[in-house]
Amino acid sequence: MSNKDSKTLNSDINFDKQHIWHPYTSMSKPIPCYPVESASGCMINLQSGESLVDGMSSWWACLFGYNVPELNKAATDQLSKMSHVMFGGLTHQPAVTLAKTLVEITPSGLDKVFFSDSGSVAVEVALKMALQYWQSLGKSKTKFVALKKGYHGDTFAAMSVTDPEGSMHELYQDFVAKNLFTEQPKIKYEQAWNDSAIQDLEELLKNNAEQIAALVLEPIVQGAGGMHFYHPQYLTSARQLCNKYNVLLIADEIATGFGRTGKLFACEHANISPDILCLGKAITGGYMSFAATLTTNKVANTISEGKAGVFMHGPTFMGNPLACAVASANLQKLLSYDWQQAVSTISNQMHQELARCTKLNSVKEIRVLGAIGVVELNQEVDMVSVQRKFVELGVWIRPFGKLIYIMPPYIATAEQLSKLTDAIYSVCESLN
Ligand SMILES: *Cc1c(COP(=O)(O)O)cnc(C)c1O
Repeated sequence: MSNKDSKTLNSDINFDKQHIWHPYTSMSKPIPCYPVESASGCMINLQSGESLVDGMSSWWACLFGYNVPELNKAATDQLSKMSHVMFGGLTHQPAVTLAKTLVEITPSGLDKVFFSDSGSVAVEVALKMALQYWQSLGKSKTKFVALKKGYHGDTFAAMSVTDPEGSMHELYQDFVAKNLFTEQPKIKYEQAWNDSAIQDLEELLKNNAEQIAALVLEPIVQGAGGMHFYHPQYLTSARQLCNKYNVLLIADEIATGFGRTGKLFACEHANISPDILCLGKAITGGYMSFAATLTTNKVANTISEGKAGVFMHGPTFMGNPLACAVASANLQKLLSYDWQQAVSTISNQMHQELARCTKLNSVKEIRVLGAIGVVELNQEVDMVSVQRKFVELGVWIRPFGKLIYIMPPYIATAEQLSKLTDAIYSVCESLN
């Protein structure tokens, strides 16, 4: 880097520190950020000249890494037609094509598609759908049941169904709607099932059915709330209980959708269909923010025949053509790719290579499901120093709390994956 470049770089870093908020950070004591010059394939290239193997898929989003030729082409082709037109009274082929694909590939019965801007908004939309559904039926069902340690986003309604402890509820106590929380599903994915694990949920539903609009959950993988993989039978039973107690089931697959857990959608681990499904994150392959909420004909028609006569939501950028076009290209690529093989190869390699971490004192447990690898430590890590260490080791891995986890792009090579797992081992060893 020339002197001039490094001067610009430092001045950018300073401006960033002084003026730009980053996720969940302090403005007065910001933690260091690494300026990125470009990213391509599985590599993130820093302005300082280092290249890092990406272990995060930019928070579950970049299924095929960065600078993906097919997605670039879809974006530029669409740009030359139109980036955006309003969706009120207008429609377009990118939206139709994407909706067709989503209806086809998602669990059966989800035939109506609502496009929105981000995952949190997709959750807001899902909750509003459930509320309006019951209102249309003349029932006063206005509470939600959610799982402890669940995460559904940062907007207010999404926060109200996110784990109430150690999350954001406290800060906004008087403003966040009060919902009901059931125990975290305690039986892990690979453990033997026991019906006692569903008792708490059954009690809650039984005792409060009259006022519960929907059960909201992340199927199989609770992500941001602790990377917990739970037993598919929990989901099967939850579906049955929702039917029994006349409660809708909302599946938030914003993190798990599009193959990450080894199934195209995590609901498939239990062979169930929710009444409402939220998708986001990987839908555009990580190119831009976009989300969808799908529901059944029954829910959509009931809402539409209710008092309001319409579903009361309509974001400015609803059905954004650019995002729809990129999402369609991403899904086309995914469906024509042997993603199952790719995910299972990544899964096996993570299993093998992370196993040695278990003998370290700093490590509590290793878990792997699909293309998600998690090392749970005994103690919280110091994010800043661990982050720096990972960068020195040539990888991009961002730990949180006691968790060091990776969910690499499906295109990660065996060599790149080993670089990630080696770095994790080194860091865990240094914490020993
Ligand atoms: C990330 C996430 C969200 C929120 O999505 P945003 O696009 O960040 O608003 C909601 N639910 C789950 C399960 C998520 O992982």
